[in-house]
Amino acid sequence: MSFEELYGSAPEGTWAAPGRVNLIGEYTDFNDGFVMPLALPHTAVAQVSRRSDGVLRLYSADIEGGIVQLRTDELEPLTNTSWAAYPAGVVWALREAGHPVTGADIHLGSTVPTGAGLSSSAALEVVTALALNDLYELGLDCNQLALIAQRAENAFVGVPCGVMDQTASACCAEGHALHLDCRDHSIRQVPFDLAAQGLRLLVVDTRVKHALGDGAYAERRAGCEEGARILGVPALRDVPYEQLPDALAKLADPRVRGYVRHVVADNHRVARTVALLDAGDVRGVGPILTDGHASLRDDLLVSCEELDLVVASANAGGALGARMTGGGFGGSAIVLVEEVQAEAVSKAVTEAFAAAGHTAPRIFTATASAGARRLA
Ligand code: ADP
Ligand code: MG
Repeated sequence: MSFEELYGSAPEGTWAAPGRVNLIGEYTDFNDGFVMPLALPHTAVAQVSRRSDGVLRLYSADIEGGIVQLRTDELEPLTNTSWAAYPAGVVWALREAGHPVTGADIHLGSTVPTGAGLSSSAALEVVTALALNDLYELGLDCNQLALIAQRAENAFVGVPCGVMDQTASACCAEGHALHLDCRDHSIRQVPFDLAAQGLRLLVVDTRVKHALGDGAYAERRAGCEEGARILGVPALRDVPYEQLPDALAKLADPRVRGYVRHVVADNHRVARTVALLDAGDVRGVGPILTDGHASLRDDLLVSCEELDLVVASANAGGALGARMTGGGFGGSAIVLVEEVQAEAVSKAVTEAFAAAGHTAPRIFTATASAGARRLA
């Protein structure tokens, strides 16, 4: 159903916000660390009109069930377990922050694959936040919109995510990766035009999600906090890479030691990646990706058979480097390849999955695309 068919008139405007893949810097965001996502060409699109009567009407073209109708002054955190909690949470977070949002009619649709670790949830939140920001003339910048969207997901939906996904969706720029400091939220756009270098970044959606992942995120977070506490720093971001051996010697629990080693080393991998990109050496990033994967697999223990198989088969098939991206236990991996090798590497991965008896993966090219924007 179109916006007009649902709500009886044309929308005041149309907005888009992308999903993302993270190039490097995994599980570092909640450690006040560094990440480097890029926006995908896949977007959530919202058509929106204001209302002044406190009514919020939500519709997703991708979900059965028609319009969800709520009241802006009756929104309660953690009470709605449907998809509608994401956009409703944004309205709640805006109102909590004192912004006078008095209702809206919203029509959503998205091309971001859901549950594939590509942040379809952040895309949905950010597109809602940007539309309301424009219509209600709230004057929030992309960082502020990201924080509103993160608050919606943390406090209203109840998912304890860091700030990376929403910042990527809100702030990324076409042809660039986003260097984000998750402590002060400062950002820098780093040129990442792979086509100009004869390169390609493949996203391999394994199409699996292991139940193990549900509690694992919270456990890793707690382990990292424990590590920071023992080391006497506010967050693991404050452990310099050069002091990693000393820090590890102070940690008795092998699990915590692995988590600390991963986080400190991955922050360092982000810094090395930025330096290589600034120097124009994109190919040099390949081995850093593969190192990062080994660290996620062996130290943070968040990979799985399918993700490991993508990395092993892609590298054996001639890729420059590969790693899982996002939370792990399934979801997606990224593979850096020479353009001329892209087809052969895709084939190698697909054949390895078939030989192992796994469902065929979905493979597409990630072009660094624009962040959230108004379309009409
Ligand atoms: P990810 O963000 O990695 O895709 P999440 O589990 O965080 O995975 O978010 C997926 C959820 O976001 C879906 O289960 C659904 O509730 C919501 N969602 C995403 N896209 C849409 C959409 N187009 N319409 C309605 N809900 C959506
Ligand atoms: Mg999500």
